[in-house]
Amino acid sequence: LTAELSGLRDLPATTPDGVRVGLHVNIGLLSDMAPSMTVGAEGIGLYRTEVPFQIRKQFPGEVEQAGIYREALETFKGKPVVLRTLDVGGDKPLSYFPIKEDNPFLGWRGIRLVLDHPEIFLTQIRAMLRASVGLDNLGILLPMVGSVDELETAKVYIHQALTELREEGEAVATPRIGVMIEVPSAVYQIDIIVGMVDFLSIGTNDLTQYILAIDRNNERVAPRYDALHPAVLRAIVQVVSACQGSGREVAVCGELAGDPMGAVLLLGMGIDVLSMSAGSVPRIKWVMRTMSHADARNLLAEALNCHRPSEIRQMLYQALHERG
Ligand code: PEP
Ligand code: MG
Repeated sequence: LTAELSGLRDLPATTPDGVRVGLHVNIGLLSDMAPSMTVGAEGIGLYRTEVPFQIRKQFPGEVEQAGIYREALETFKGKPVVLRTLDVGGDKPLSYFPIKEDNPFLGWRGIRLVLDHPEIFLTQIRAMLRASVGLDNLGILLPMVGSVDELETAKVYIHQALTELREEGEAVATPRIGVMIEVPSAVYQIDIIVGMVDFLSIGTNDLTQYILAIDRNNERVAPRYDALHPAVLRAIVQVVSACQGSGREVAVCGELAGDPMGAVLLLGMGIDVLSMSAGSVPRIKWVMRTMSHADARNLLAEALNCHRPSEIRQMLYQALHERG
């Protein structure tokens, strides 16, 4: 089976009835890039830039950051590379920037933190933009956005950095700007948010945690955490539907994208891109090349009629099993 999967490396993820889904990779360290090339990823769908921050002893400066980002952009030259801005707080601590809070998951995380520290945000944006000169494959992704104001402010800073760099003589192309949909409030305002960005990426890990009110890292409640919960699926459907016809690309970069059952449902919804760890790409490509879009749509409709995650799993397990 492994040989069969590796034979798919250079084939597109196209369903038997001709629907093409982009398969991208999630990375955190530059060392994740080699396996991404090996599996034939069509782009980087999520670069978690907090990882290079976490392995350092202090905030990396603009030049150091630009070097790291350049390597990713250059390795995937001609393909889209999505760099997510710093997403610390919650379950992602920074030793040199301790945060003490009673409720870290509802606290100072992601975009909230950097908007309160524009110097951190601007340094990172400048580094990303500089790194993209001459490559023009940069997408900037904003994590944990929960309001139109946050998104608007972040965009103002990005444009400020862009203007400043151009005034300094750097030939920086305008990047694509995207937003993570992982806070429930963003789902309910999706019709407005879609019009403010170039692309969207659904973070099903946090979205599940916040919709179900279940800490994704707490073992006591872990059995209750399930991204295939009907409530979570309804939220994802709402987001994907709002993107369709808008001309905006919509991706899923949470774990659900790399789960065969999740991927089937996302295919049924009409997702454009699935982004996952490199190790999951061959399996998901096999699923895409085996399952027709029409069948996936029917399975999705059936799933949306289910009341419980267990029923959805049972049904999808059977559908995947039948196909090998
Ligand atoms: C997510 O929340 O689904 C996501 C992709 O981001 P992270 O796992 O880094 O929080
Ligand atoms: Mg997240």
